[in-house]
Amino acid sequence: MKPRLIVHGGAWSIPEKFEQDHIKGVHQAVAAVYPDLASGMSALDTVEAAVKILEDDPTFDAGRGAFLNAFGEIELDAMIMDGVTLNFGALAAVQNILHPITLARMIMEKTEHCMLVGAGAQHFAEQIGVKAVDPRELLTARELEFYNQIKNDPEFKTKNPFESFPKGTVGAVARDIHGNIAAATSTGGTPRKLPGRVGDSPIIGAGAYADNRVGGCSATGWGESIMKVLLSKTACDFLTTHSAMRAAELSVAELETRVQGLGGLILVDRNGSYGFAHNTSKMAFAFVDEDGNVAAKIRVAS
Ligand code: ASP
Repeated sequence: MKPRLIVHGGAWSIPEKFEQDHIKGVHQAVAAVYPDLASGMSALDTVEAAVKILEDDPTFDAGRGAFLNAFGEIELDAMIMDGVTLNFGALAAVQNILHPITLARMIMEKTEHCMLVGAGAQHFAEQIGVKAVDPRELLTARELEFYNQIKNDPEFKTKNPFESFPKGTVGAVARDIHGNIAAATSTGGTPRKLPGRVGDSPIIGAGAYADNRVGGCSATGWGESIMKVLLSKTACDFLTTHSAMRAAELSVAELETRVQGLGGLILVDRNGSYGFAHNTSKMAFAFVDEDGNVAAKIRVAS
């Protein structure tokens, strides 16, 4: 089967001055990982590898470059899901891990559990030898400046970034040559979120979902709205009766009309068709086309 890979770098009002960094970032993640996928790497390994590249990139709100919470600290959420077994691993509110997506995978594969949070997740990381980093290594000058701008602003709401401020969770969905599907999402959450706040990204069916029988999805946007409609599972459910593109559009329409939500998503269906949609002004994403070429773009909402 033809392998497929699509990644996103967030759905928000990406200012023009950051557009090139976003396009470069998502392009690089696909271009670096696709050759291995084409030579037989599993969908699970592929989405993990692609998200790791995006977590490394300070452009995006995941791993390095994450937003700061109300205490000026980083708290990361992530999940990965295997469409073969419906197994998933997730973590929330982790402060000292550069690659939360790898830790999420370890939680899936090496514990009896699906999700670990905060100190417990960090303790598990230590036990299995996932390297802790000083949270200052994840901090960028851009985010510190942004935090200082908003920290005492009584008008600021965590929903604002999806309307007008910088944002950029990352995600990936892949189908490998065996037809297996996997999805992954990683984020620093929303700026000035309350410490302990968990968004949609690590919630199964909200931030990501994958089921070989239909397809896989990774979502991004205002988490408090995405969770309410389980955006990724909703999109996968639409795949049973609609094309990938239509399923993406219908689920974003549901997000908008049912809960006045803001966000976007990327999809691959079991036949290898891509779907993407967003109701934020822009979304950054990249995928491998029919001929094996990487297409990277910032899509502007019509
Ligand atoms: N959905 C993420 C959250 O609310 C943020 C994002 O996708 O940009 O935590």
